[in-house]
Amino acid sequence: MKIVLSETLSYCVGVRTTLELTERLLGESPGRAYYMLGEIVHNEHVIEALKAKGLRIVQTLEEVPAGGVVILQSHGSPLRRYRELDARGLEYVDATCPMVRNIHKKIREVEAEGRTPVVIGQIGHEEVQGIVGQVGRAIVVREPDEVTPERFRGVLRAGVVVQSTFIEADARRILARVRQVVPDVLFHDTVCQPTKTRQREVEVHTRTADCVIVIGSRRSANTMHLYHIARAINPCTHLIDSPESVEAIDVPDDGTVFIASGASTPEDLIFEVVRRLEARAARLTPHRSCAAGTGKAGGGSPSGGRT
Ligand code: SF4
Repeated sequence: MKIVLSETLSYCVGVRTTLELTERLLGESPGRAYYMLGEIVHNEHVIEALKAKGLRIVQTLEEVPAGGVVILQSHGSPLRRYRELDARGLEYVDATCPMVRNIHKKIREVEAEGRTPVVIGQIGHEEVQGIVGQVGRAIVVREPDEVTPERFRGVLRAGVVVQSTFIEADARRILARVRQVVPDVLFHDTVCQPTKTRQREVEVHTRTADCVIVIGSRRSANTMHLYHIARAINPCTHLIDSPESVEAIDVPDDGTVFIASGASTPEDLIFEVVRRLEARAARLTPHRSCAAGTGKAGGGSPSGGRT
């Protein structure tokens, strides 16, 4: 078995920065109470480790007492959250990713130009809530079929932005539909570069690997996007969120396994998956083919990845 690792494994720059900042704050001022709205990563070990260092996870600002410091996460916040923080007199540290800040800026510009703001993204996702919360009103679309003349009735000028982790090709398909129903469309491609790099790498390696393992949580939008991209190319694609799960999947003993991860998957989880796969390879058994089929679209071994 040959294991090829994605070059873009584990945290994206935005998530890594927030985690490092949080760890630093907790270490520097252990006497202060730090609060985070929701979990920064969908991984209980990371969250438990932060909690052990003093981080408190809350769901609303009402739960934060006077004197508490709120850490605003990388995926950004609606404007009303800053107003609420001020109204409650709460101190905060803003760890919004610069690339999400740019999306906020673009959608505010769109509104200021008198265009109808349109967000291509997953309604209800925290990042999308933060983007929509920059303007008075926005239309959110996730599928081409959601772009109907009824939903866009009366919209003559639109400005479109995209959730940072959306699948690029899907965004283009939705944009084409928006152009069909709105005469004047300004488009800002705001899928972030780290996401594009990760998605393109998965696309390339999935074509030549015998099997693909995507590591991350089903609750993570960017992980699910990677899984869907890989699965559409190679049916032998598996999504796992714990090292133990790798034992249950059937990977070809003498083939190439490509490993990718979501932007909020911790490194140690990935390395434990690799360790288990290597242990399996070391006790090689007669060839087993992947139960899902190889779906191999090209020959040869993946190149450019670390093995
Ligand atoms: S996915 Fe991109 S925009 Fe979002 S936090 Fe990570 S680097 Fe920033």
